Amino acid sequence: MVLAVNPRTSLEDQHFQVVVIGGGINGVAVARLCARAGKHTLLVEQNDFASGVTSRSTRIIHGGLRYLEHGELDLVRESLREREKLLRERSHLVHPMHFLLLLNEKSQRSALKVRTGLWLYHRMAGKPASAGATEMELKRLERALDAGHRWSFFNYEDAQCEFPERLVVEWLMEAVEAGAIVRNHTEALAVDVAHGRVRGVLLRDQITGRDQRVDATWVINCSGPWADRVCQRSSIRTQKPMLGGVRGSHIVLPRFSGSPSAALYTEAVDGRPIFVLPWNDQVLVGTTEVADSGDPAKTVPSAEEINYLVQSLAQLFPKAKISAQSVKHAFAGVRPLPYSPDNRPSAVTRKHILHDHADDGATHMLSVIGGKLTTAASLARECARKIGLTAGEPGAMAVGPGPALDPLLDEAVLEVARIGAVSEESARGMLEWHGKRAADIARMALVSSELRAPICPHTSHVIAEVVEAYRREFAVTLGDVLLRRVPVALGACWSESCSREAALRIGAVLGWDEHTMGANLEAFEMERAAFLRRVGRNAAAFEAAAD
Ligand SMILES: Cc1cc2nc3c(=O)[nH]c(=O)nc-3n(C[C@H](O)[C@H](O)[C@H](O)COP(=O)(O)OP(=O)(O)OC[C@H]3O[C@@H](n4cnc5c(N)ncnc54)[C@H](O)[C@@H]3O)c2cc1C
Repeated sequence: MVLAVNPRTSLEDQHFQVVVIGGGINGVAVARLCARAGKHTLLVEQNDFASGVTSRSTRIIHGGLRYLEHGELDLVRESLREREKLLRERSHLVHPMHFLLLLNEKSQRSALKVRTGLWLYHRMAGKPASAGATEMELKRLERALDAGHRWSFFNYEDAQCEFPERLVVEWLMEAVEAGAIVRNHTEALAVDVAHGRVRGVLLRDQITGRDQRVDATWVINCSGPWADRVCQRSSIRTQKPMLGGVRGSHIVLPRFSGSPSAALYTEAVDGRPIFVLPWNDQVLVGTTEVADSGDPAKTVPSAEEINYLVQSLAQLFPKAKISAQSVKHAFAGVRPLPYSPDNRPSAVTRKHILHDHADDGATHMLSVIGGKLTTAASLARECARKIGLTAGEPGAMAVGPGPALDPLLDEAVLEVARIGAVSEESARGMLEWHGKRAADIARMALVSSELRAPICPHTSHVIAEVVEAYRREFAVTLGDVLLRRVPVALGACWSESCSREAALRIGAVLGWDEHTMGANLEAFEMERAAFLRRVGRNAAAFEAAAD
């Protein structure tokens, strides 16, 4: 079914100072920091790195203007600091993004409140407000918006990480360079606790089916919305649930006539805040907030949520005639928010909590609850301090990949294109997704025309990037490659025929026989369909009924 390029040696009976459960952005950040501090670290992920909530987010790196409404000043300050760090250190993956906050005469928030909030936001960021959208851009947007309202526009800056999956891979590789052992498709079945203290972790390798046990001094449970489940399976009893899952859904559409070039932050049909974002040459709209205590692996957007997002967008842009049929796909994820049964989902804090299980009879185990993409690195530092690492420890708190090649610089693009004898478009794509490693991938591409070939006829990303994903980036399945390492399958025109074409081209280079090809393709299409939900008749029927 799957292609395992890297040998998966047994971990049986090995001892690790730190075992991290869960390879989302938080787990990878924690493993990287522990390994850099010299701790023998193991990171296990039951599916693929970044396949959980991390790839189901809105993908903005932000201070959280909305958190000001809830008085979470510390969280905003921390997020703004981390946003600036990511912009500086991962400039190929995290880009500044211009936002327009839209209000009309019916909006629940007043212009005065918004102006005050933005003044505070800019002050906390320590940056002056940017010049904002031009007169022409605003006019163009105003023409596309519902003309029945008086619109006010407020400018501010935040950032976007179009592919947090790539940020996770970079941190993962840095963890490995620092000595961490990382295993995707490896499930932590249970944490072994004896005499009130963590002793080890029982693991199941999903590829080989082999069960193994490793010894552990510390276990950090970074399993996101699965955190309570990991404890339940390990018979670790917390006084109350740690999590109150809240599902958030998004819809993705092709660009439409009048679709904005800036990110919009506005109100949905019920006055809740939503984003309308340019993303990956498409439009990303979200999100919703629905209490969800089900299995996070099976979370899907409901017809009501899809309809809510479609109606909200259609109401903003009536001339674009947006309907459920306009939606390319929808996806959902469960926010691992702290258990807070008395609060509305929107009022639950977005600040992370580190739950120490010493009081639950499991000394040396921590569970990470909540957090954001934006604050994963600061969460990791806090975790490291909790297990006794200090800022003074060699390499412990060091971050940064070294100087990156800037994909926006034409010289860098020309250099990579020259090294690999690839088009400038392919070179730019490599720089955007692989940063300073683009030159190495280009060198590999130079070896043969098959390696320089595009993955499918509609993308400039090439097969050499796929080979790199299998060889060095711990990809195991075709889904790991096409959805997360080289995420071309998230693109605007990807279809079943692209999947077939990509599998043929990849299989030819990797020497797949017909059976392996068929099995890889089938597993990939199943994963793609489960993640990126086609908006079927249900949503359309619901929409018709609501009219
Ligand atoms: C709708 C939505 C929008 C969001 N938008 C933003 C945003 O725009 N900006 C922002 O900063 N944040 C955003 N967030 C928050 C952010 O995405 C999450 O807080 C963050 O991704 C959580 O990362 P994580 O590593 O804790 O969880 P995950 O990414 O879910 O990682 C946990 C991993 O643990 C694995 N796992 C579970 N059980 C086991 C086991 N037994 N053994 C091994 N592995 C296991 C899972 O497979 C999973 O991959 C959003 C969240 C949602 C839901």
